[in-house]
Order: sequence, then structure tokens, then C-alpha cells
Amino acid sequence: MEDEKRVIAEGDVVSLEYTLRVDGEVVDTSEGGEPIEFIQGSGQIIPGLEKELYGMSLGDDKQVVVGPVDGYGELDPEAVMTFPKTDFPDNIPMQVGTELQLRDNQGRVYNARIVGIEGDEVRLDFNHPLAGKELTFDVKVVGLRAATDEELTHGHVHGPEGS
Ligand code: ZN
Repeated sequence: MEDEKRVIAEGDVVSLEYTLRVDGEVVDTSEGGEPIEFIQGSGQIIPGLEKELYGMSLGDDKQVVVGPVDGYGELDPEAVMTFPKTDFPDNIPMQVGTELQLRDNQGRVYNARIVGIEGDEVRLDFNHPLAGKELTFDVKVVGLRAATDEELTHGHVHGPEGS
């Protein structure tokens, strides 16, 4: 039996259609694909969007504007660093805009973009590409149910066959 009065609460499995715009441009959308599915309150989506979903019902849509602090963070000027060109393997195109993954001694992986090349030096920006941006989400709730105990224990949504 479907409960149409159900509203989104912590621990619910939510399916959400979404379109994300930044500066008026679509940067991500579920249109033409699958909606995102997550457990509300588990921090699987960005916090500024998650907190606006409480109280919405199946079929509801909403526009949510999220500032940098509740989105991908403020731009951190210290996350822009300079490295000698000799630190980079030959197969990496040395041009502004190139996206890189770097691994430190502990094996942690960092994403960065080349933002400047001066002489023998390369400037890398480790900020998330959407850091410092205001995010405008158009969302629609297309699925809503309680999570199973197993899903809550695992911390993720299971498909129809279970996983
Ligand atoms: Zn599982």
C-alpha cells in the first residue's frame, strides 16, 4: 500500500530527479538517466540540499539554492600550489585546464587542475571545481520509502535484488 502522505525524514530512501545549474549553466542532471537514490540524513548528497528535502513528499518539486559553505566549500587560496615541471610525467599535457590525479606518499588521491604555467613551474588548483560557487538545484521526489534495517546497517541503498 502506498502512503502518499509520507514526508521525507531521516533514514528514508529517497529517489530524486535533479538538475544542477551554476551561473545559469547546467553542470549536472539526472535527465535522460536514472534519478539519484540515497538514504536521507546519511550525508550521501551535499548538506545544503539534503537539509532542504525534509518534509517533501512523493511528487513534490522544489528549487534549492545552496551557498558555497553548504555546497562544495569556499575557494581556498592555499589550495593553489606551484610545482616544478619536472615533477610531472611526460604524458601529461602541460596546458591550462588539464585535470590531474595526484597520489601522495600515503597513497591518497587528489584531484587538481592546471591553472597556470610559468617557465619551469606549474600552478595547480586543488579546489573542487564547484568550490566558491552558488549551486541551484531543481529537484523532484520520484521515490520515497523507509530504508530496510539492512540498508541502514550498510549505509547504502539496495536494488530490487538486494546487495
Ligand atoms: Zn549493502
